[in-house]
Amino acid sequence: MKGKYSEIKVDKIIKKFRNIDGGWSWTKYIAGPYLGCSFGCAYCYNLENGEDDSVTIKHGAVDKFRRELKELPKDVITLGDYQPAEAGERLLRAMLKIVAENNFPLHIIEKSPLVVDDIDIIKQISQNSWAAISVSVTSSPDDPDTSAGLNLFEPGTATATDRFKIMSEMSKQKILTGAYCVPVIPFIGDSANTIEAVIKSTKEAGGKYFILGGLVIPEPFDQLFWKTLKDNFPKLESKVKELYDINNSAKYLSYLKNLEVLSTKLCDKYGLWTHIPRPINHYPKKLRPNKSIAEYFYLKSRFARSNGLSIKMEDAYLALAFLLDNLDYNICHDYQKQDFKALEDSGLTVELAKELEGQIRVRL
Ligand code: SF4
Repeated sequence: MKGKYSEIKVDKIIKKFRNIDGGWSWTKYIAGPYLGCSFGCAYCYNLENGEDDSVTIKHGAVDKFRRELKELPKDVITLGDYQPAEAGERLLRAMLKIVAENNFPLHIIEKSPLVVDDIDIIKQISQNSWAAISVSVTSSPDDPDTSAGLNLFEPGTATATDRFKIMSEMSKQKILTGAYCVPVIPFIGDSANTIEAVIKSTKEAGGKYFILGGLVIPEPFDQLFWKTLKDNFPKLESKVKELYDINNSAKYLSYLKNLEVLSTKLCDKYGLWTHIPRPINHYPKKLRPNKSIAEYFYLKSRFARSNGLSIKMEDAYLALAFLLDNLDYNICHDYQKQDFKALEDSGLTVELAKELEGQIRVRL
């Protein structure tokens, strides 16, 4: 069902995460004026989507957003999910203006060309604070057969051609942009040729980064995915089910590792980053060294598997990044004073402590 733009009351409009989305979009806050999504992606597990593709407008979204944002410490806020309703309502546009007025760093992840209508405000945010526009795209216009297959899983969304146009428009305005190639659909959108074509198109559209992520299909949000797969690719159903066998997660982890290795190699070939560099300057000056060292450990965690490290190391790097991110003093100063209050009880291994020390030393 489309075009149901009734209103709903919500208590809060900004969702605040306990920890940032380190190594990915660096998001601390997320907000949007719409509840639900009309695009009907078969792999969607957005809890706000409900059971159909109807969209509801959050009552008083813009005023609530203004009030709530003013109360928050500056950190990256993700906006997006441009719905067709936005063309008339312009609620996201009003929220972007508030982000600009308050100098918050902005991340947008988007499939809809409507975001280009707001390029003037995004450019302003990019110049005065920081903005990264991640275009959600998993196939290239140069690979029409794969695009057509993948489009069956995203029936209401823009074509790959239109999504790369978003990227080139942002890039022409010198706004940081790149590809969020998520989710990669197994055996349909995961060949080396497909991934390379998306990376090549990203480079040609002026994107700076390419981020790859696997398909997550948690129950009970998986039914539409399995139906779409069965209806359109019946021969692949058992293969994909085997890959997602919860009794053999090693198989999927190894599959994902191979994809990450491939993606890193191809990003090197085309001169793209495999991640978005963390924006640091909006943090208080004394905390910037912590944030920068935390960035290092977030990325160590994110790429642990493709670098052949264990899940234990992946978790340890992430825990250390969270710890550093939440310190309220400059760790480099305390290192000089040989005073590691917060780290003493954190259970760091000797190796990790040495790695941390190395990161501190290069920032002294
Ligand atoms: S665009 Fe697709 S994945 Fe994103 S919220 Fe809408 S239906 Fe879900």
